[in-house]
Amino acid sequence: MSPSTNMPDEPSNKTFYGLFAGLTAFIVTVVVVVSIMFVKRHNVRTRERLELEQRIEFLRRHRENMLVAIESGLKHSHLSMDQIKGLPRRELAKETLGGTGGACGICLADYCAGDQVIDLPCKHFFHGLCVEPWLSINDKCPFCNQHVVEQRETAKGESP
Ligand SMILES: [Zn+2]
Ligand SMILES: [Zn+2]
Repeated sequence: MSPSTNMPDEPSNKTFYGLFAGLTAFIVTVVVVVSIMFVKRHNVRTRERLELEQRIEFLRRHRENMLVAIESGLKHSHLSMDQIKGLPRRELAKETLGGTGGACGICLADYCAGDQVIDLPCKHFFHGLCVEPWLSINDKCPFCNQHVVEQRETAKGESP
């Protein structure tokens, strides 16, 4: 007379439990699948948001660095546009290049015949396009660190 012996005797109960178990399994499966989809989508969105935030942070720092560079560049003693224009320029000829023409100390590209260069008073020369931006924020030779303007003025004073 225990309930366990009673249960198998009632087929309606069996069917009900079978249906119930099947339905429960189905619902659980659906819930699990939907949850996994939701979590995946949420993860993608979170990752996209993190990437966007990182990009914004990078741009913010880049902007700060640029502002600092501009500010320190202006604080540095540098050549005026007129002083830069006054520097001697020449076009590199094939014969002056020799076997190894050498390379520009700023862009590191090998010199080619026809390249426009600027001669600094220290006898170092660089591509005009390379050294002009440098001299607009710095008044020293990028190679030997000698002052460009003082040397030029001394050289002018020495020559009769
Ligand atoms: Zn160069
Ligand atoms: Zn130099």
